[in-house]
Amino acid sequence: MQYNFRNDCFWNAIPAWENIGREAFFDYKWQLKNSIHSLDRIVSLLSDIVDPIFLADIRSGLEKSAMNIRITPYLFSQIDWSEPYHDPLRKQYLPLESEMRAPHPWSDDDSLAEKQNGKGSLIVHRYPDKVLFLPITVCPVYCMYCTRSRLVGGSTKTKEKDMYGPKPKNWTEAFHYLRDNEDIEDVVISGGDLYQISAKHIELIGKSLLDIPNIRRVRFATKGLAVLPMKVLGDHDWTNAISNVVEYGREKDKQVFLHTHFNHPKEITEWTREALSLLFKKGIIVRNQSVLLAGVNDTPEIMKTLIKYLSYMGVQPYYIYLHDMVPYSEHLRTSLKTAVYIEKSIRGSTAGFNTPTIVCDLLMGGGKRQICSYEYYDELSGISLWKSPNLDPDKIFFHCDPLDELSKEGREIWCDKKKLDAHKDLLIQKINQ
Ligand SMILES: *Cc1c(COP(=O)(O)O)cnc(C)c1O
Ligand code: SF4
Repeated sequence: MQYNFRNDCFWNAIPAWENIGREAFFDYKWQLKNSIHSLDRIVSLLSDIVDPIFLADIRSGLEKSAMNIRITPYLFSQIDWSEPYHDPLRKQYLPLESEMRAPHPWSDDDSLAEKQNGKGSLIVHRYPDKVLFLPITVCPVYCMYCTRSRLVGGSTKTKEKDMYGPKPKNWTEAFHYLRDNEDIEDVVISGGDLYQISAKHIELIGKSLLDIPNIRRVRFATKGLAVLPMKVLGDHDWTNAISNVVEYGREKDKQVFLHTHFNHPKEITEWTREALSLLFKKGIIVRNQSVLLAGVNDTPEIMKTLIKYLSYMGVQPYYIYLHDMVPYSEHLRTSLKTAVYIEKSIRGSTAGFNTPTIVCDLLMGGGKRQICSYEYYDELSGISLWKSPNLDPDKIFFHCDPLDELSKEGREIWCDKKKLDAHKDLLIQKINQ
């Protein structure tokens, strides 16, 4: 199958960019300079082409959102502004009050209990041999469903945050921790986003990690390819820095990967293909992690198309995450049932190594579990019970479906604390039998 990815001048539909040519639009510096950070800017770009009611909906959405707006012209102009309520890109990056739901009672802005496993401010050490390293808290785009909304993207009206940019002095402390803990072999560099780290700092981080004898594998995570593929093609220093770290690792028989974050086939254009082709030619192994988002990509057809597109470009679809139980993006969560249905529908449609594992990252630090491996799933209350023997063999962990997807009877359980406690005990008894 030959795919022809989008390659028209789609940005010309926005009045302000009507006369911007391909070359100007392709310039990643122009994209960054013209990134959209404020409602005022959105109003000035869209007031002639969208309904004022929609703009007012964003205004009140921003009052409640835990994430600020940040979006590149490249993504912004791929949104179908004739149908903005339904557009899968708009849903990810622009909040609407009319869509929002009250947070789930068990949601938590540190739903994965990362603070509990924090070692210093920049390392999360939960699993025996792998860690997260969070060198910065800024990204080239802000996703309304961000699991680290407590840290990433700056304060909003509802959420105070401490932001940090690149601070190599603090990184040194993290490198010491990794050196001192010889069981650690694998480092995921996340955050925040690699796109906001300079070439010099990428080499510094990559090489410092690879110089630690016990570190065997390094992963760089970035949403950038979905947001601004032109940077990979145009910012040669940046792309070469990644490539240099990959080479440096290869010489030491160590693996370095790039992990991207595409959620929808619409995020893939001809520029994406060219950027990934460049990385492929440089021998850089790229994998993708998606988040399952209600109304964005929660159908087998959309997921199958995304997987086919990624595989075509040499990207391995690695994970699909069930949306974490963070507040303020309840409307984007799906039920476990939906995830199991999608797993059944995609498995067998293509090569096994290009079939992503769908995982649920459990409340209270239970870690990622394959979604079909729950101990018990009570569709009435939406509560699923899980075990995670490598993290805590004795503990029972939980995940919950969005209340919106429960029956009336199921929702009633959540309105009454006594009823809920009794129901939860009953479920625990079931798996302890
Ligand atoms: C996701 C995650 C990792 C990496 O897990 P993989 O399943 O190997 O991708 C490491 N540490 C933490 C705390 C994580 O959340
Ligand atoms: S790119 Fe990743 S870290 Fe940044 S806002 Fe989006 S989900 Fe969060």
